[in-house]
Amino acid sequence: MTQINQNFCRLPGSYLFSEIGRRVSAYSQENPGAELIRLGIGDVTQPLAPAVTQAMTRAVAEMGTQEGFRGYGPEQGYDFLRQAIARHDYQARGVEIDPEEIFVSDGAKSDCGNIGDLFGPDNIVAVCDPVYPVYVDSNAMAGRAGHYDPQTGRWDRLVYLPCTQQTGFVPELPKGRADMVYLCFPNNPTGAMATREQLKAWVDWANERGSVLLYDSAYEAFISQPELPHSIFEIEGARTCAIEFRSFSKTAGFTGNRCAYTVVPRQLEREGVGLNGLWNRRQTTKFNGVPYVVQRGAEAVYTPEGQAQVRQTIAYYQRNAQLLREGLGQAGLAVSGGVNAPYLWIKTPEGMGSWDFFDLLLRQAHVVTTPGVGFGPSGEGYIRITAFGQAEQAAQAVERIQSVLG
Ligand code: PLP
Repeated sequence: MTQINQNFCRLPGSYLFSEIGRRVSAYSQENPGAELIRLGIGDVTQPLAPAVTQAMTRAVAEMGTQEGFRGYGPEQGYDFLRQAIARHDYQARGVEIDPEEIFVSDGAKSDCGNIGDLFGPDNIVAVCDPVYPVYVDSNAMAGRAGHYDPQTGRWDRLVYLPCTQQTGFVPELPKGRADMVYLCFPNNPTGAMATREQLKAWVDWANERGSVLLYDSAYEAFISQPELPHSIFEIEGARTCAIEFRSFSKTAGFTGNRCAYTVVPRQLEREGVGLNGLWNRRQTTKFNGVPYVVQRGAEAVYTPEGQAQVRQTIAYYQRNAQLLREGLGQAGLAVSGGVNAPYLWIKTPEGMGSWDFFDLLLRQAHVVTTPGVGFGPSGEGYIRITAFGQAEQAAQAVERIQSVLG
C-alpha cells in the first residue's frame, strides 16, 4: 500500500484562525446587530498603486500581441525585475547584491516553506516563540521537528527562542546547537525590530558555528527608525551565513497579486556546496516562475511614481499604527510594536489569558483581535492587533476599547 508522509499526521490542526472564526461567528449569530471591527488578520486593505495597475494593464495588452506575447518566463524571474530589486532594495542602501543572487517567486510564505528542501533531516532548527507558524509547520512536514506535545504547544526537536518583554521581544543567541535559525524582523507577531548590533551578534554566531540564518524581512517597508537595518546583508559577514526573504505583499499591497523574492548569496556554502546553485536547482525543478504581468507590476513599484504611491499607502497604515499605539496606551494597556511594523503586541490587563482578553474585546468592544498564544507559548498573555484596517475603524476601535477598559 502507498505510504503517506506520516509527518503530516503529527501536525496539530491549524487551530488559531479557525477558532477565531468560530468564536466570531457564534457571537455574531447571538448578536446580529453587533458591528464588528476586524483588527485580527494580517491582510492589507488599500488598493494597488496606480503605477502598478497601469504597468500591469500595459503588460496585459502586450501579451495580446504577436510580438509581445510571452510563454514560460525564466524560473528565477525576469532580468528587468531582478535588476530593479538589486538596484533599489540593495545598492541604494550600500549593499552589493548581484541580480543572479535574487530569485523572484510567488510569495515569501512559499519560499520560507520551501527553503527547507535544501537542508538535511538531522539539522536542529531554531524558531522564535512566538512565531510565524510557517517556519514550524514546514519543518514538521519535513520531519525535522520531532513530536508535538499539545500540553506545552511545542515540538520536541525544535529549539524555541523566547521573545519576551525581558528580551525586548528579540531572541537571545541559543545556548546549544542550532543549525537553521529563522529570524523575522520586523517581527510578526510582536512588531519588534532588531538593532544592527543584535543582528551582528547573530551573524557572528552563525559564521562561527556554520549555521544558516533564514531572515524574513517581509515587513521591511514599515521600518521607520533610520538607524535600523532593512536587510540582513547590511550586516558584515551575512553573505556567508544568511538567506533573505522579501515580499511585495505588504510593501505594495500584492497579497492578492503574488510576488516576492529570496536572496541566496553566492558565498553561502555548506559542506562545500553552494546554496545559490541548490536553490536554483530547486526552483527550476519545482517552480515555473511568476506571471509576466505581475512582474511588470512589481517593477513599477520602483519607478518614482510607484515609490511615491506605495510610500503613501504605507504611511496610511503607519498612522493607524500610531493612533492604535497611543490610544491603547491611554486606555492603560502596555503596547509594544507598531513603530517599525504594522503589528501591535499588547499585554493583557491583570494577567488575563490571551483568549479571555480576546473574548472580552469581542463581546464588549466588538473588536476582533488575534490571541498571542496562538503564535506560541510565549505569546500567552498577549494579543496582536494589526494596523492594516481602515483609518476610521482603527479610530473607532480605540474609542470602544478605551470606554470598555476606562
Ligand atoms: N512572512 C511573514 C512573517 C508574514 O507574516 C507573511 C504574511 O503574513 C509572509 C511572510 C507571507 O508573505 P507572502 O504574501 O509574500 O507569501
